[in-house]
Amino acid sequence: MTDEDELKKETRAVHAGRMSAEHFGAVNTPVYRASTILYRDLASLESGDVPYIYGRRGTPSSQSLEEAITALEGGTRTLACCSGLNAIALAILSVCGAGDHLLMVDSCYAPTRALCDRTLARYGIETTYYDPLIGGGMESLFRDNTKAVFCESPGSLTFEVQDVPAIAAAAHARDASVLLDNTWATPLYFDAFVHGVDLSIQAATKYIGGHADVMLGYVCANDSHAARLAQTHDHLGLYASGDDCFLGLRGLRTMPVRLKRHGETAVKLATWLQARPEISRVLYPALESDPGHAIWQRDFSGATGLFGAVLNPIPHRALAAFFDSLKLFGMGYSWGGYESLIVPSKLHRTASPFTPECPLIRIHAGLEDPGDLIADLEQGFDAMRAAQ
Ligand SMILES: *Cc1c(COP(=O)(O)O)cnc(C)c1O
Repeated sequence: MTDEDELKKETRAVHAGRMSAEHFGAVNTPVYRASTILYRDLASLESGDVPYIYGRRGTPSSQSLEEAITALEGGTRTLACCSGLNAIALAILSVCGAGDHLLMVDSCYAPTRALCDRTLARYGIETTYYDPLIGGGMESLFRDNTKAVFCESPGSLTFEVQDVPAIAAAAHARDASVLLDNTWATPLYFDAFVHGVDLSIQAATKYIGGHADVMLGYVCANDSHAARLAQTHDHLGLYASGDDCFLGLRGLRTMPVRLKRHGETAVKLATWLQARPEISRVLYPALESDPGHAIWQRDFSGATGLFGAVLNPIPHRALAAFFDSLKLFGMGYSWGGYESLIVPSKLHRTASPFTPECPLIRIHAGLEDPGDLIADLEQGFDAMRAAQ
C-alpha cells in the first residue's frame, strides 16, 4: 500500500474514498437512500458505537464522497451539503456569531454578498468588503471582533487573483480564520491548506459534478477547524442526498482529465478573443498579459475553463444579436459542466470599483471542439456588427 499523501492528486481523485470490499466488490459505492438506520441490539443503540446513526448524519454514500474530497484537499474533515451556497453559509456560521465581524472580498459570488448583507446582518454578523487586490495591506481593516477573512480567487465575474498567502498571514496574526471559495480552481489546481486557508469551500455543482445535473457543495476543514465545522453542520441539519453524493463522486473520478481540456480550450478562446476588435479586455489569469498572471503562476497549478471579457461599447441590440445568434454556447447560469456557456455579467461592488465594467460577459469553455466554438463566436460577432 502506498501512503495516500504521497500519491499525485490525479491518482487520489481515482482511488480515494472507495470501499469496494464493503459493497461486494462494486467499484463505486452504491447510492444509499436512508433515513432510519436499524441497530443490531440495544447495546449498540445505547453506546452509539456504530458507523452510521441516522440518514441525515451520514451514509456510505456521503462518507465515500467526503473521504475522497478530504484526501484530494489534504485537509482533516469534509462535510457535504446540498449546494455551494449552503457550504458558504456553513463555513461562515462555523466561525462567526453575533457581534462578530467578517471581511469579505468585494469580488465574491453575488449570492454570498446577499447572504452577508441580508441574513447574517440580521443575526449580528457585520461584513466589511475589501478590495480583492489588497494583498497583505489589509491590517487597517481588522477590528478586535474580526473573526474571519473570506477569499474567492480568482473573483467571480472579474477574475482578480488574490494573494491568499499574504492575506492568510495577516488574518492569522489577528487570530482570524481564513475561508476560501475555491470553486474556480478546485482542489486540483489550488492547494487551499498549503496557502494558509482554514476552511476550503467548493460549489461541487460546478466542476466536481461536471455534467450540469447536480447541486452539491462541501466545506473541507484543517485540524483546528474540523470540530466546529462538524458541529455546525450537524446542528443546522445540513445534508447531501445519496444520489447527489454518488453523482459528485462519479464526477470527481474524471475531473482531472476534464479540467485539463476545459483549461486548454479556454486559453484558445481567450487568446482568440483578445485579438478581436470587439473586445476591450479579456479577464483570465492564465494569459500572460493578465494582471493576476504572476500570482496565478506562483500559487496555482492550472487554469480551468471560466473567464470574463469586457466588450467595447455597443448598442444593446447588437449585444442581443450576438447572444441570440450563438448556437453552441448556451445562455444560462452555473458552469463547470461539459457544455459551453455564455452570460452577460452584472457587477455588485461596493469597496473597489471595476472599470470599464460594461458590457461584461462570462464564458465557460466546454468540452466541444475549440475550432467549432471559435467559429460560433465569429459568426456571433458578424451578427453583432450587422445589428449595430
Ligand atoms: C455557483 C457558485 C457558487 C454556488 O454554488 P451553488 O451550488 O450554485 O449553490 C458559489 N461560489 C461560486 C464561485 C460559484 O460560481
